Amino acid sequence: MAQVLLIEDDPAIRGALKRGLTERGHAVDSAGAALPGLESAVTNRPDLVVLDLGLPDLDGTTMLRMLRGASRVPVIVATARDDEAEIVAVLDAGADDYLVKPFSAAQLDARIRAVLRRSGDTAADAAVVVGGLRVDPRSREASLDGTALDLTPREFALLHYLAARSGQVVSKRELLTEVWRLPYGGADKTVDVHLSWLRRKLGETAQEPRYLHAVRGVGVRISAPQG
Ligand code: CA
Repeated sequence: MAQVLLIEDDPAIRGALKRGLTERGHAVDSAGAALPGLESAVTNRPDLVVLDLGLPDLDGTTMLRMLRGASRVPVIVATARDDEAEIVAVLDAGADDYLVKPFSAAQLDARIRAVLRRSGDTAADAAVVVGGLRVDPRSREASLDGTALDLTPREFALLHYLAARSGQVVSKRELLTEVWRLPYGGADKTVDVHLSWLRRKLGETAQEPRYLHAVRGVGVRISAPQG
């Protein structure tokens, strides 16, 4: 099925997940710490990385940023902490999905298949153009009127999600579940904050929107400026 790199320092968890994923047809390499994991990710080019956030040598968010600097490989984060702030931070740093421990190899396998389905979706890979805005998920580059936008991975994902649905109003609930992969409730401020950052990078304000239109009580819509 897939070439998976499992980075986990607990030998019992590592062994059990490796066995379970191998039984489900994956080829699994593993590492017991962040730095050997990074090296393996760069050298062996896995299809997907499963990354434990509690590693002895580097904290998960730092590790994820280093990995993202070197590779666009899909990453599923495994966290022992059911901590929303931590989960939001790693998703912002470029993780594709997360699982809270304890979880089974069967659950992990289902997430792996879902993440690979999403990342391998060729229709979702095409560049999206809305007016002077161009968003290319393959190169992870976005530009406005030919000038590159300097976006974080989460801002990029948000912009791409909205641009791919230009003209449609998208609810904050949908953004939270589809872009952040979080349950709704409590974290909806996260969406507002990222929208305001994105708006600033697009050089517009909520009062005088060009592309990003808030629809009060409903959500947000991207559309090309008129005239
Ligand atoms: Ca650990």
